[in-house]
Amino acid sequence: MAKTIEVQSSELRFPPTCVVCMSPASKQYEVSQVYSRGTGSATVRINVPMCSSHFEAASVKNTFEKLVGILGVIVGILAGIAALIILIMRWVPTGNDSIILKLLIGSIVGFGFFIMVWAMFAFWIAPMFATQESKEARNAVRIVLVSPHAEILRLEFMNEGLAEIVQKENQLSG
Ligand SMILES: [Zn+2]
Repeated sequence: MAKTIEVQSSELRFPPTCVVCMSPASKQYEVSQVYSRGTGSATVRINVPMCSSHFEAASVKNTFEKLVGILGVIVGILAGIAALIILIMRWVPTGNDSIILKLLIGSIVGFGFFIMVWAMFAFWIAPMFATQESKEARNAVRIVLVSPHAEILRLEFMNEGLAEIVQKENQLSG
């Protein structure tokens, strides 16, 4: 059963055990979450301890994931070029549109399409091809909610016992 706890991000401490298997940890795996902060977005990062084999499982991408990642870049470039061409062909003339203006706006739109397609492959499609072990290690601790200035983090633990230990440690320190 997953368990969610809230912790003070500045004082967050983990016991020195792997968050997946509870054996002694030798590595730190970075878990990050992008969140919106008023006008823009920011990223909050925490390091969770892992044993070397789970660290490996979490960080190494398998061949399928890599291939889908590369495919995302290629499809993204094609989508960007297609968007650029369509925009220039469908350009509604307003009198004094220079080719430079068209190319400039076309490039911005094209780049936007590239990022959209690439991100879809990288963050949504590729992770589906991860091995069960990778998924388990990557999702052992997730940041589910961030307060406006990231002082308070809501963390979801796959391991309920560990969540309780972390919660207790962070209460004592606070
Ligand atoms: Zn482990």
